Amino acid sequence: MPAKGSMSEAETRLRCAVCGKPQEVRFKPFCSKRCAQIDLGRWLKGAYAIPGRDEDEGDGTNPPDADPGEGG
Ligand SMILES: [Zn+2]
Repeated sequence: MPAKGSMSEAETRLRCAVCGKPQEVRFKPFCSKRCAQIDLGRWLKGAYAIPGRDEDEGDGTNPPDADPGEGG
């Protein structure tokens, strides 16, 4: 399989997950300590926050007609 035009040189370099700048080896996978902290903050927030769940909690087996049973 002849491989031609393999220009993955630029793609090899990953980018910062926060701002998109080229990553720095020291702060991988971020470009700077600042970005690392920003991401950490986000992660913590997400970890602490409880995922909102919308679950319908109800019987749903109740009959639509509600007769008081008066008269008769
Ligand atoms: Zn960054």
